[in-house]
Amino acid sequence: MKFKRFRDRRIDEKTREKYRETFLNKSDFIWPVFLVDGKNIKQEIKSMPDVFHFSSDIFIREVEQLVKSGLKSILLFGIPENKGIEQAFSENGIVQKAIPKIKKEFPELEIITDVCLCSFTENGHCHIGDNDKTCKLLAKIAVSHAKAGTDIVAPSDMMDGRVYYIKEALTKMKSPSPPLRKGDCHPQIMSYAAKFASNYYGPFRDAADCAPKSGDRKSYQMDYANVNEAMEEIAADIDEGADSVIIKPALAYLDIISKARAMFSCPIVAYNVSGEYKMLKTAVKNGDAKEEIIYESLLGIKRAGADRIISYFTPEILNVME
Ligand SMILES: [Zn+2]
Repeated sequence: MKFKRFRDRRIDEKTREKYRETFLNKSDFIWPVFLVDGKNIKQEIKSMPDVFHFSSDIFIREVEQLVKSGLKSILLFGIPENKGIEQAFSENGIVQKAIPKIKKEFPELEIITDVCLCSFTENGHCHIGDNDKTCKLLAKIAVSHAKAGTDIVAPSDMMDGRVYYIKEALTKMKSPSPPLRKGDCHPQIMSYAAKFASNYYGPFRDAADCAPKSGDRKSYQMDYANVNEAMEEIAADIDEGADSVIIKPALAYLDIISKARAMFSCPIVAYNVSGEYKMLKTAVKNGDAKEEIIYESLLGIKRAGADRIISYFTPEILNVME
């Protein structure tokens, strides 16, 4: 025999299954959720079909079915009606008020909270001008989420040293009694370690009302040409105390995910961002691609080495995997 007959492995679905190397699990998925103040609100975000702004009462009602379908984890963004950075760390902030309500209804649902300033600053930037002063504010936000009972804080700002400041602040926190979380009462840190200044974030900025009023984020988010620097950023965050790291975006950055997987042993999380979501969603809607393209793309992120995937496709993918 001069050649190998690979096609024998692909003869039918049963056989293909036996040779399949990568699988998506329901527990791989983290659902990003946009919370707003008020009651009875479920409003579709214009730039993101099937993604909504929820008030917490409606969110709790809506998430029940998804939890039954196997949803394990959510990533919360609070979108205030009026700007003002003190709302970012107020105990009456949207996220701070929502966490205990969600925990009460769904104690097993993991809550991850976004830690940033861009939804709260007038100019839509993730900082207040000074790097280290911003870090102190971010630590304050993280502590306020911790007090509300979040499981994981996820700083997304890309300031230097913010994981260090957040870890310090969380460690110094007094343990509440009774503890808000099982075991260690300090939330873990899932840092956006390699977040690139990407053109794929457009629809999100609409959703989170955080488009910069002037300039761009290229002075703090990473240059999308850089692989080695991404590894340096990840190493620094782990060194400062991050328990897991996020690479964002995902689909145009599979090489970053793959390299990080080879270099680091901590969990690697990929953020399948709004622009990626919109492109695939539109392609399916227009009939340019079969719905399976969504599954294929998400599987590609996992195959590249991601342990978990933050995706707006989470609700529909949970239903497909039923
Ligand atoms: Zn931000």
